[in-house]
Amino acid sequence: MKLYNSLSKQVEEFIPNENNKVKMYTCGPTVYHYAHIGNLRTYIFEDILEKGLSFLGYDVIRAMNITDVGHLTSDGDTGEDKMAKGAKREGKTVWEIADFYTKAFLDDMRKLNIKVPEIIEKASDNIDIYIKMISKMIDKDYAYLSNGNVYFDISKAKDYYKLSGKNPDDLKIGVRDTVEEDKAKRNPADFVLWFTLSKFENQVMKWDSPWGVGYPGWHIECSGISYKVFGDYLDIHCGGVDNIFPHHTNEIAQSEAFLGHKWCNYWCHGAHLNDESGKMSKSKGEFLTVSLLEKKGYSPLDYRFFCLNSHYRNSLVFTYESLDGAKNALKKLKTKVLSLTNEGEMQDDFYKQYHNKFGEAFGNDLNTSLMLTVLYDVLKDNNLNDKTKRLLVEDFDTVLSLDLLKEEFKEVDSTLEEKILKKIEERKEAKKNKDFALADKIRDDLLAEGVKLIDTREGTTYELV
Ligand code: AMP
Ligand code: ZN
Repeated sequence: MKLYNSLSKQVEEFIPNENNKVKMYTCGPTVYHYAHIGNLRTYIFEDILEKGLSFLGYDVIRAMNITDVGHLTSDGDTGEDKMAKGAKREGKTVWEIADFYTKAFLDDMRKLNIKVPEIIEKASDNIDIYIKMISKMIDKDYAYLSNGNVYFDISKAKDYYKLSGKNPDDLKIGVRDTVEEDKAKRNPADFVLWFTLSKFENQVMKWDSPWGVGYPGWHIECSGISYKVFGDYLDIHCGGVDNIFPHHTNEIAQSEAFLGHKWCNYWCHGAHLNDESGKMSKSKGEFLTVSLLEKKGYSPLDYRFFCLNSHYRNSLVFTYESLDGAKNALKKLKTKVLSLTNEGEMQDDFYKQYHNKFGEAFGNDLNTSLMLTVLYDVLKDNNLNDKTKRLLVEDFDTVLSLDLLKEEFKEVDSTLEEKILKKIEERKEAKKNKDFALADKIRDDLLAEGVKLIDTREGTTYELV
């Protein structure tokens, strides 16, 4: 298994710390808004990495945080608090915002067939761990209290710039807009571990600490959660390229200061998805979400397929034309797969050969387009009977997760969706008025049309049957 390591800037042989057990940590979303499809590209790449490692026989444990506190718009110590920004935008509390957008994120993951990590931890549930780590860093003189806040002293870190390869001179005040002068810092690039001096008068999320009432910095959250879940060592840490600096750089500084040794061996970063204007944004232009794509008549898996056609380390430009291309190609692929019969006996040798080829394509630093080529080769190969082809498609789809063998996906177009949502509302109203006969009729009528309603604690959803 070969993997590009952002730390060594080379493709390396992947060797986990403990035999074939892989401890994998992936930075989670800041739940102040919907995820855009750029964010989700990163989660798709991480999903392929996790599932591909399992395909190769590794035993993977993956953890992810949900950032619901401490993340400022600059990714550093300046700018607005993202959660407060979301709360202000919608006239809700920060807790309601966190709850709503966490569910929305998990829903997007489900739609994209991204496996929900085995362990998910909310940042706000782990305050005691951050306090423990910060206290130890102060004791070891890596951190200091100044003017109310606790800062990490980057001059004490071993090779602080090793991951980013940045030049410290670039980070001097005035060179970058995001570096604001903070006189309380010993070095301009020092970062906050614990805020007590909040710039935000209405800061709602705050906790008691040895340094006063306040809240953690964003970076300590991932170091803390990773330590809680995995202990002293981590095999793989992932995120988007924007996380390299300052977030992952600061995670390494903190974790290694706290632990007293090297912490994580492999750092993997996915390149960005951009729109035609450049950077993808949640506030400017069209806010590209999975639901928007669905409204426009795409299946979320069309988008997954679109992502798999390019390498995760190449940046990708999103256009509707290329999504149309992916949608058509996926449809053709599915038609071909679904036309396979169940005839013949499994051909063990061919099966093994192609299974290994697919594994090798993945093991070549997640070459997803080559993995797809292996799939097309299987479908084309006249030496294989349909049974073997089917079994191979099933095998590959444990990683690709394109629902290739699921009977023809019935597409929900926007008018149908509108109609169903209207009926759900009418049924809700009927139930409120205690007209259960009408409520049941609406449900039964929809079922007769192939729409099954599902009542959950969060409300009613549906599936096409
Ligand atoms: P955030 O919710 O902003 O913390 O970001 C969630 C994840 O999405 C992080 O791993 C980011 O690195 C990643 N990310 C942000 N923007 C993009 C983009 N345009 N393309 C791909 N990944 C992104
Ligand atoms: Zn993180």
